[in-house]
Amino acid sequence: MAWFKKARKPIAAAKEKASRVPEGLWVKCAGCSQAIYNKELATSLNVCPKCGHHFRLSALERLRMLFDDGHWTEYDRGLVSTDPLSFTDTKPYRVRLEASTEQTGLKDAIIVASGRIDGIETIVSAMDYGFIGGSMGVVVGEKITRAIERAIERQCPVVIVCCSGGARMMEGALSLMQMAKISGALARLDRARLPYVSVLTDPTTGGVTASFAMLGDVNIAEPKALIGFAGPRVIEQTIRQKLPEGFQRSEFLLEKGMVDMIVDRREMKAAIARALRFMGATAAQAPALSATSGTAGTAVAPEAASR
Ligand SMILES: [Zn+2]
Repeated sequence: MAWFKKARKPIAAAKEKASRVPEGLWVKCAGCSQAIYNKELATSLNVCPKCGHHFRLSALERLRMLFDDGHWTEYDRGLVSTDPLSFTDTKPYRVRLEASTEQTGLKDAIIVASGRIDGIETIVSAMDYGFIGGSMGVVVGEKITRAIERAIERQCPVVIVCCSGGARMMEGALSLMQMAKISGALARLDRARLPYVSVLTDPTTGGVTASFAMLGDVNIAEPKALIGFAGPRVIEQTIRQKLPEGFQRSEFLLEKGMVDMIVDRREMKAAIARALRFMGATAAQAPALSATSGTAGTAVAPEAASR
């Protein structure tokens, strides 16, 4: 019967007028809704020059921001997930991996590299949200663990930049095991009396928060970053209570003592270097560096360096 069937075609969507502005030249800020020129954004480390909203950074941009002169040595670049569960949801996990690799140019959601932060030889692990939501699978776990072990070997500090939706569901319990594995490695780092700085960026959630993200000797958050374990909706449904304003944002967590400080991205490198130096890290003895930098090059006696 015609009553129950749609006899007429639904109204077609209006054809969008072609914009005269080339794609990707301007970005609308999520903080102040203003249009920002892309190049301007790139020069300010993806921070809105008008309101200070922090746009997401890729792992590569993060390393570029942290290391002196953009120089670093990457490790374990070739590690890839073997899809241990042969997992398929709406599409096979293997296909997802391939698509993400094509999109980001990475083999998994993290880059591990060593280089100098204000003269201090450091191993940095930077997560990339663009690769399956920055989720932590076996590869991320293994790369971070190796990074920590490498740092112990070399007696240098570790910085991990977290940006993750949590553990990678497609690898099931194997991804959850990474939480314990990395925590164990961090305990060994602590025993070796080497500093670890955790940088929490938007978003840091799930298994990552529940393990290494919160284990830093210093936990530094970017402004207004979402940091938490379960999402607010899940919590509201469980406890049947309305959550307070600004819940799970950096500022709220600082007030409650969950993070140590909130640092604007444009001052992040200096803040990390200061924290590392406070914990006894010293600038590497490099002629090029001590010649250029007044503060980083100051020699500290080895006795003073050990905590
Ligand atoms: Zn803005």
